[in-house]
Amino acid sequence: MTSDSDEIKISESQCPLCLSKENQEIYDNHISLFKCRECGIIFNEKHCRLDYDDSYFTSKYREQYGKTYLEDYENIYAVSICRLNRILKIKKDTDGSRLLEIGSAMGFFLKAAMDSGIKDVLGIEISGYAAKYCVDKFHINVINFPFNDVKLNGMFDIIAAWYFLEHVFDPSSTVKTIFNSLNSGGIFAFSAPSFFGPQYFFKRNEWFESHPADHRIDFSPKSAENFLKKIGFQKIYIFPGGIHPERVIGKNSLFFKLFKYFYAGISRMVSFSDTMEVYAVK
Ligand SMILES: [Zn+2]
Repeated sequence: MTSDSDEIKISESQCPLCLSKENQEIYDNHISLFKCRECGIIFNEKHCRLDYDDSYFTSKYREQYGKTYLEDYENIYAVSICRLNRILKIKKDTDGSRLLEIGSAMGFFLKAAMDSGIKDVLGIEISGYAAKYCVDKFHINVINFPFNDVKLNGMFDIIAAWYFLEHVFDPSSTVKTIFNSLNSGGIFAFSAPSFFGPQYFFKRNEWFESHPADHRIDFSPKSAENFLKKIGFQKIYIFPGGIHPERVIGKNSLFFKLFKYFYAGISRMVSFSDTMEVYAVK
C-alpha cells in the first residue's frame, strides 16, 4: 500500500483520459491506482467490469441501501427533478428537445423528464429487467444494449449519464461519442465520484480500501472541467453531489453547527464533495 507522501514512482501505466504515461502510483492492493501528472485524474489499472445483472436492482441494491431500487422510487424521482431543474435553468427552452439517458435503469429519471415537459426521451440500459420495467410501466422507449454496442440515430439536445462514466474502460472516446451526438447548445449532464472531497482528504485509507474495482477513473472538479473543455464543451457547471460536514467533524462536536454552516458554503463554492454533478454545454 502506498500513499501520496511515499516516494514518487513513475509508472508505465497510461492514463485512459490523456494517454500520458507520467503517473504516480498511489495505491496498489485489490486495485491499482495512479494519479495522472498531466490531466490530474486518478485511474485504476486493475479495473474490472461489474457483472451487471438484474439482481443489482433487487438484492444487491437492498444490501447497500436497505431497500430495492423500485422501493427507492420517491427518493430517486426527487433527485431527478432537482437535476432536471438544473438542466432547465441552463437550457431554458426545451421545446422539441430530444433527451437520451445512458444507463437509464428502471426509467425514473426519464419519467421525471417527461413530467418536466421533455416529451422526446430515450433510454439505453444494459439490464433487461430494468429496461422492460421502464417500457411496460412508463411506455418509454429503451434500447436494451450496452452503450458501446449502440449505434445512435440522430442527434440529441440533452444526454444524461448518472454514475456511468467511472465504469467505462475508455471514458475519453465515450465522451467524444456523446459530444458528437449533441446538437450545438446541447447539454451533457452527468454525476461521478470525486476525489476532491472529505473522504479522500481526511480518510484516505478508507477511500482506497472501499474504492470499487469496477471504477476506472476518478475526477476532481478541476480535472473534469479541463477534460470537457479539451473535448470541445463551451461551458461547464459543476455542483457538489452531496454536502457532508459530518465526514470531517463528528455531529456531537461542540463546533459542529458552526462548522456545518461554513462547510456548506465552501463546499458549494468549490464543489468539495465525494461526488459531483456536471453540466457541460456544447
Ligand atoms: Zn491523464
